[in-house]
Amino acid sequence: MRNYAVGKFKKQFRPYFFLIVTLIFFRVGPVYSSQFLNDTEKLLSRIDLSANELEKVKQLSSSPDKAAAELLDYFRKRNSVKHFIDRSQKENFLGKAAGEKDLEMADNALNHIFVGQSAYPPYFCGDNIDWGTRPVADNEWVWQLNRMYFWNAMAKAYWHTGDEKYAREWCAQLVDWTVKNTNDNDHKYAWRSIEAGIRGHSWTELFQYFIDSPNFTPEVLVAFLNSMFDHADYLMTVYRSKSNWGLMEAEGMAFIAITFPEFKDAVKWRTEAFRRLNNEINLQVYPDGHQRELAIGYHLGCINWFLRTFELAKMNQLENMFPPSYLKTIELMCEVPMKLGHPDGTNAQFGDAWAGSPGQHTKRYLEWAEKFKRDDFLFLATNGEKGQEPDSTAYALPESGLYSMRSSWDNDAICLVLKCGPDGGGHCQPDNGTFELFAGGRNLMPDAGSFIYSGDPEGRRWFRQTKVHQTLTLNGENSKYAPKLVLWQPGEKLDILVVENQSYENLAHRRSVFFVDKRYFVIVDEAIGTATGTVDVHFQLAPGKVSINSEDLSVNSDFSDGWNVHVKANTQKDIQLLKEEGQVSFLYTKKEPRPAFCYSLEKLQNQDKVRFVTLVAPYESEVPDIKIQFGNSEIPGLQLNVNEGGVRKEIGYSL
Ligand code: CA
Repeated sequence: MRNYAVGKFKKQFRPYFFLIVTLIFFRVGPVYSSQFLNDTEKLLSRIDLSANELEKVKQLSSSPDKAAAELLDYFRKRNSVKHFIDRSQKENFLGKAAGEKDLEMADNALNHIFVGQSAYPPYFCGDNIDWGTRPVADNEWVWQLNRMYFWNAMAKAYWHTGDEKYAREWCAQLVDWTVKNTNDNDHKYAWRSIEAGIRGHSWTELFQYFIDSPNFTPEVLVAFLNSMFDHADYLMTVYRSKSNWGLMEAEGMAFIAITFPEFKDAVKWRTEAFRRLNNEINLQVYPDGHQRELAIGYHLGCINWFLRTFELAKMNQLENMFPPSYLKTIELMCEVPMKLGHPDGTNAQFGDAWAGSPGQHTKRYLEWAEKFKRDDFLFLATNGEKGQEPDSTAYALPESGLYSMRSSWDNDAICLVLKCGPDGGGHCQPDNGTFELFAGGRNLMPDAGSFIYSGDPEGRRWFRQTKVHQTLTLNGENSKYAPKLVLWQPGEKLDILVVENQSYENLAHRRSVFFVDKRYFVIVDEAIGTATGTVDVHFQLAPGKVSINSEDLSVNSDFSDGWNVHVKANTQKDIQLLKEEGQVSFLYTKKEPRPAFCYSLEKLQNQDKVRFVTLVAPYESEVPDIKIQFGNSEIPGLQLNVNEGGVRKEIGYSL
C-alpha cells in the first residue's frame, strides 16, 4: 500500500497521526512520499500543460508537490466546464441536498458500513476496508459495492449539513479505493466495465461536491484524476454493443472527457463516446421506441444514459455532436412508459422489470413535458390536472411486440398489457403471449417478476419459466421466441389483438384478444401444428384468496373490497382445470405465493389444432354473466357469439 501524507489509517491511530502531522507542519511543512511525487509526475504527463491557464502548473512541473497544489488551485478556480452539480449553488443546498435515507447511508459509510446490492442489509467492510467483501452469495453485492452509491449519499450529506466529516472520510475512502483496486485479475469484482462506466459518471459529480473542501488536498486530487484517467483509458478498450452495458461504458467515458478536457486524450475519449451513443441509439431502439432488451427498467435507464451525455454535452457547447434524430428517438423512448404503463404508473414486470411504485414516473414526465413540449406527458405528470389526455387508449409497439389496451385514462381504468416479442437477451424471459391485467387501481394478474440475478440459479430459473406466465405451453416446456403480429385493430367498442408465436418447432401459439366494450376480455388460444402432448394455458392472480370451481372451469380472485377478476374457460371434451405452483416477486430477493392454475388438454396425433376460449373479466361487484360460443367457421379468421345476460352480439375478425 502506498503511503500518502494523508491517507486512510486505522482509526485507533488517527488521533496520534493528526498530532504528528501537526508537529511536522510546524517544523518543516508537509512531507510527501516518493509515491505521491511519482503519481503527480504521471498525472502531469497525462495533462495537456500547453494551455494558457495551466502555464503555472507547467512551470512548477519539476517540483511535483507544488505543481499538484497549483493544479488543485486551478481546478477550484476553473469555471470553463459546466456540470449538473453546480458548485456555485453549494450554499443554497444547506438543509436541502439530502433525504433521510441519504443521511442514514452516509452516516453508516462514515463507519465503513456499506450498502452493496441494496436488497441486502448494509455490512461492515472492516476498519481497513476490504473492497472485495462478499457477505452474501449474490455477486451483485460486491459488484454494486464498487459503484459506491454511498459516496453519492456522503456528497449530498456534505452539502446538506456542511459538516466536514463527510468530506474528510470521502477523501480518505477515495484514496484508499484507488490504492487497493488496480485494474488487474485480482480485482475483477471492481472492474466490470459497467461499474467502471457508472463510476466515470458518478465520480465527476463527487468531484463537484467535494473539491472545495479543505480536506480535498493535492494528494486527493492526484489520486482522483489518475484514477479517472485509468477509467477512461480502460473504457476505450471495452464496448458491449446492443446492450445497456454499452451505454454505461460510453457515458462514463463521456463524463470524464467533458468534465476534464485537460487530459491529453479527452477529445479522443469524447469522440469515441459520442460515436458509440450515436451508434447504439440506432442499434438498441426499435422504430416503436422500445429498447431492445424489452425490460422496462433498462429501457428507462437507457433514456437516462442517452440523455445525460447529450445534456452535459449541450451545457458545454458540444450538442452538435448529436444529430436532431438523436433527441427525437429519446422522445419516442419517453412515450413507452406512457403507452405501456398501468393507470397508477406502475409497470408490467416482463423479464427483469419491476412493477415499481405508483406515480413513480411523475417527476420524469414533468421534466420530459418541458423538454419535449408535450401536453400528454404533462397530463401524466399532473394526474390529468393539466395538459392533454394521450391520443389513444390502445397502443401497439409492433417491433418489440408490446401492446396495451385500456378503458380510459382514469386512475381506475381497466388495462391489459401483452408481450409477444423477439429475444431481448439476458434480461428477457421466454414468455411470449403473456399479459398483465390491471383494474380499479389493482394489479389483478401481475407477472411473476425475476426475483434474483445471481447467487440463486434455481430461484432465477423458476421465475423465467414459460409456464409461470399467462401463456400456452406444450408439455410444460419453455417456448422459443418467434413472434408475429397477425392483427391489430383498435376500435371504439372493440379492440382486437392477434399475435402468434412459433413457440415450439411443431407448434405455434396463436392468441386472439378481444377487449369488448372496454369492459372485459375474451381470449382465444390456438395451438396449431403437428406436435402432440399436453397443452396448457396458464393464468396467475395477485396474492390473495381465490375461489376455484373445477365444474364450470371458473376461477375468481376473492378480495373483500374493490375489484376482482373472473376467469372462465369454455367447457369442452376432456378439458381440465388444474392448480399450479404460483409465486410472485415485487422486490429483489423477496417472493410470495399466489394463486396459479391452468386449463389443460391433450393434443392427439390426428389433431391439427386445439383451442381454448377464456373469458377474463375484471369486475367491481357482480360476477359478470357472459357466455361465448364459436360462430360461423366458414369465414377465415375467427367469429364468436357473445351472450351477456341475454344480450347477444357477434365479435370476430377475418383474415
Ligand atoms: Ca416474467
